[in-house]
Amino acid sequence: MSNLERQPALSACGGRGFVVAEPVRELLSPRRVTLGAGTEVRRLLPNLGRRMVGAWCFVDHYGPDDIADEPGMQVAPHPHQGLQTVSWLHQGEVLHRDSVGSLQTVGVRELGLMTSGSGISHSEESPRRHARFLHGAQLWVALPDAHRQVAPHFEHHGELPHVTAPGLSATVIMGTLDTATSPGTTYSPLVGADITLAAGAGARLPLEPDFEYAVLSMAGEAVVDGVPVLPGSMLYLGCGRTELPLRASSDASLMLLGGEPFEEEILMWWNFVARTNEEIQQARSQWMGGTRYGEVKGYDGAPIPAPELPPVPLKPRGRVR
Ligand code: MN
Repeated sequence: MSNLERQPALSACGGRGFVVAEPVRELLSPRRVTLGAGTEVRRLLPNLGRRMVGAWCFVDHYGPDDIADEPGMQVAPHPHQGLQTVSWLHQGEVLHRDSVGSLQTVGVRELGLMTSGSGISHSEESPRRHARFLHGAQLWVALPDAHRQVAPHFEHHGELPHVTAPGLSATVIMGTLDTATSPGTTYSPLVGADITLAAGAGARLPLEPDFEYAVLSMAGEAVVDGVPVLPGSMLYLGCGRTELPLRASSDASLMLLGGEPFEEEILMWWNFVARTNEEIQQARSQWMGGTRYGEVKGYDGAPIPAPELPPVPLKPRGRVR
């Protein structure tokens, strides 16, 4: 999906100053954001209290929405650069098209991974004939400087590895969890995993003490390190953990996000990740001028125009709290 806000803020993220070195339990509330056509999402990152978790820099949770009599997701062509998009569904399906010629339907618990690198444009839509419910998350991973100009490409992985324990099953979406590694291409040490807990389950998930982590609740009643986390909320966990205690009083679904703290300071605006205001300005004008992000063939509709830039430029900066 996309950042379709009409007046997106310029967001300065990254840098060691934001990272909490020790284990913490910070419950983050979502911000409700309306994407065109009335679709409402819950934005967990960037959040007032927290900008990134490792290289994860953007998290939207949406649904479950009943779209039986509606077109569902309809996101017209728009550009990205400097990031990877991760599409993850619990219900429904999304048809992805992009400017390097990909045409792919991404289904439930399949990885749709788009590495925008130097620049790509894409559209995402519910197919005309679609499942009744749409429920998922859209996440972005910031690319480190050494790889942010990589050639744009799209990957679809229908089969992903699992980690299991009594009452727990985890699908590894990105990176490595315990002994399982996703086939998705990563450019910094990180993990993304989808965790299913059975009612009454209690488990301890192995973690990397050098990573910072957060858990997003997708469904059910889960307790993460003693803290109840309701669907649509995210618990930031800091660094310095070797394991994470999980409990569930009903069947529950969580997403574990983690990674090495992202030391580079980045600027995020609209659908771009950059390092300077000049880069953001150039990206905006090159999208509007049609000179950089290619063309999405086969989408029935016009591309999304870039919003106006905010009048006051920002510089990347350290901790703001
Ligand atoms: Mn997008």
